[in-house]
Amino acid sequence: MMVEKSRLCRYGSHRVIEPAGALPQSALRLDATPVAYDNEILCDVEMLNIDAASFAQLREACADDPPRVAEAIARTVRERGKQHNPVTGSGGMFVGTVREIGATLRGSVALEIGDRIASLVSLTLTPLHLDEVLDVDIASARVRVRGSAILFESASWVKLPDDIADSVALAVLDVAGAPAQIRRLCHAGQNVLVIGADGKSGLLACAEAKARVGASGRVVGVVPNAETSGARLLLAQRYIDALVVCDARNALALSARVHEQLPDGADLVVNCVNVAGTEPGSILCTKDGGQIYFFSMSTSFTAAALGAEGLAKDVTMIVGNGFAPNHAQIALDALRNHPPLLEHYTNLYGRAS
Ligand code: NAP
Repeated sequence: MMVEKSRLCRYGSHRVIEPAGALPQSALRLDATPVAYDNEILCDVEMLNIDAASFAQLREACADDPPRVAEAIARTVRERGKQHNPVTGSGGMFVGTVREIGATLRGSVALEIGDRIASLVSLTLTPLHLDEVLDVDIASARVRVRGSAILFESASWVKLPDDIADSVALAVLDVAGAPAQIRRLCHAGQNVLVIGADGKSGLLACAEAKARVGASGRVVGVVPNAETSGARLLLAQRYIDALVVCDARNALALSARVHEQLPDGADLVVNCVNVAGTEPGSILCTKDGGQIYFFSMSTSFTAAALGAEGLAKDVTMIVGNGFAPNHAQIALDALRNHPPLLEHYTNLYGRAS
């Protein structure tokens, strides 16, 4: 599909096939033709990092069978021109190499042909063409592919760092919004609850929160199972003051356990789970006047809004915007500043470098 210059849009609306007038994120279908229009960057894609909520859904639907997950991803991309999970509505990000820079961007973006980058915008709005899905790593949600993707003028990306393995950087950059937002939301002396504390975003959230609240505040982590390497790391490195082992979908049990640790409730609850149904528990654990940062893509607006109303809780609920200024740098620096975290992520995600 050729697009006239006058139609080129910095947000990529010129790539929307249907419905007319939509922006790429909400579109049903994008044109992923691998050419760079004047205001676009074309990349060769080698790896996708599938969003945790999306990957959990794919694993369940495909019975943990890598070839079936691969086929489901290939089908979605074929049908939609982007990796936009039709069930969870979430995406992920890619790692690739810059192949072409459109004429109007040349010289104005800090990129050159051949640069290796990670995208910092969701795959739900990124035109993606796949020649082949090479393999799916069930443990890490990483998918090796051969394909191409388009970055719009408005997109964010980061050059892959030299000092951190690509696969580790990719894992951390996927959730870079979490530590950056926590840096803004947390203050000295506060009590913070992180639900899903031993996952990719949860660990970064705990480390960042503990650094912000200091000795006069408390950070409590919730995990469904205490016997994970992440849970042990949280305690060993004192990224948390207490661990609560509980299924966060059981709101009353969670609230009871958390209030044993934080009798007045949390000033800030950070929800980092990859499953649905944890909104009521998050709300009950927050003190009146407190805040909830719903980073999880499994969050339901209606469950959160109606849940808070029904529980008569005066809490401020924040949608987990994945973007914050310098978020990539903050996430990578979190690894550099916390060698045990770097070691942990390397053990989990470093194999595919
Ligand atoms: P992850 O590494 O898979 O971590 C998920 C965490 O949730 C794990 O600690 C897991 O514990 C915990 N968990 C699962 N079921 C639970 C339950 N019933 N009760 C309590 N905890 C439970 O996921 P992630 O990569 O950190 O991503 C977390 C969420 O953020 C996902 O929903 C993802 O889609 C979303 N996300 C949002 C953005 C954004 O921009 N807002 C960007 C990227 C990702 P176990 O490991 O012990 O099972």
